Amino acid sequence: MNENKIPYKIYLEENEMPKQWYNVRADMKNKPAPLLNPGTKKPLAPEELKPIFCDELIAQELNNDDAYIDIPTEIQDFYKMYRPSPLVRAYCLEKKLQTPAKIYYKFEGNNTSGSHKLNSAIAQAYYAKKQGLKGVTTETGAGQWGTALSMACSYFDMDCQVYMVKVSYEQKPFRREVMRTYGASVTPSPSNTTEVGKEILRQHPGTTGSLGCAISEAVEAATKQEGYRYVLGSVLNQVLLHQSIIGLETKAALDKYGIKPDMIIGCAGGGSNLGGLISPFMGEKLRGEADYQIIAVEPASCPSLTRGVFAYDFCDTGMVCPLAKMYTLGSGFIPSANHAGGLRYHGMSPIVSQLYHDGLMEARSVEQTAVFEAAETFARVEGILPAPESSHAIRVAIDEALKCKETGEEKTIVFGLTGTGYFDMVAYEKYNNGEMTDYIPTDADLKAAVATLPTV
Ligand SMILES: *Cc1c(COP(=O)(O)O)cnc(C)c1O
Repeated sequence: MNENKIPYKIYLEENEMPKQWYNVRADMKNKPAPLLNPGTKKPLAPEELKPIFCDELIAQELNNDDAYIDIPTEIQDFYKMYRPSPLVRAYCLEKKLQTPAKIYYKFEGNNTSGSHKLNSAIAQAYYAKKQGLKGVTTETGAGQWGTALSMACSYFDMDCQVYMVKVSYEQKPFRREVMRTYGASVTPSPSNTTEVGKEILRQHPGTTGSLGCAISEAVEAATKQEGYRYVLGSVLNQVLLHQSIIGLETKAALDKYGIKPDMIIGCAGGGSNLGGLISPFMGEKLRGEADYQIIAVEPASCPSLTRGVFAYDFCDTGMVCPLAKMYTLGSGFIPSANHAGGLRYHGMSPIVSQLYHDGLMEARSVEQTAVFEAAETFARVEGILPAPESSHAIRVAIDEALKCKETGEEKTIVFGLTGTGYFDMVAYEKYNNGEMTDYIPTDADLKAAVATLPTV
């Protein structure tokens, strides 16, 4: 195919959109380790998960065998309102960098939640509705997940209760109001509405909260109310399954033009967008059909893959959730207060963790001033104001494109642009004022945090 014929934006037709999600676990030789009951330390039986999660989602969580799972028509219909998301050739960025590399990004920020999170929110709300439940509870940090879930719940006429990390609740009042506009109730966490919240407040009066605390509260709220279940926006196998829509669309669009990427780059918080983007490519790699360089990018201030340990850990601070085997910094780890760039979860998806552990992908950590510098470069030439989280991937894509400039290699780089940064202007303001600082945790900081790992 003539290079000049590749358009700025590659769209799929409606009839070219994926009708099934791809479950990469089916092709993994080493499966992700099972979730354990935090009390008995034995693998969780599906019945034990029933008070917490919807039945169909439990089945998806535990399904290591089926490579393809049908996307229900109702979800396909919702996807059609904002998908396919564009795969964009970053011609302007290439020109700015004067690189021979060919750069593409898959843009997931084109919906009101401003991120890829709607892809899983709509699936989780659908299965809850189908089971006849009244509503769902969840946590949100920066607010994208809470927003996505409130949109999905309002679409299916379900109640949505969001525990929002207190510091974000106070710093991001507009995010909160978007959720309320879609009908969700939003409680700052830790709160007095749950036992675990009261306990955390007793132990740490004045705390501004963490994702781990908010998860504990949301789980308790779900199990204490008739007709409610808990839903999570990242980390879990089921979420990576739903997010495979990102990778499937990307691959279909590239295949349409006969383009084979050399390198696939994604930012990694809990690992869901990265896991979803890479899944079909990783599947080819696992089956020995193709090879790709795959890079996870995380903040230097919350470096679970590059400096964490691969071990069973709690998914939450209150230690009420199942144990997951993953790369973790310890469930008590909280990134330094100057950290503005998102991706602050202490652990990593068990699927991504296993793939990384098996040497099938790489990980890099980047410092936040370098991340915002990349965000600014990108915004000025490509127009989109990226989320700080997404900008981790932009940083490494730019670094790799600059390496190509040195070597003259015409590599094809694909990265995930997970969302927009309109609600992150306080962080951008810090960067613009030259007040942003970097903090890399010391070995002693990290050692203290992993000392809290459970013995299994
Ligand atoms: C939540 C979020 C992320 C990180 O979550 P993952 O589960 O690691 O994908 C990245 N980018 C944006 C815009 C987000 O909202």
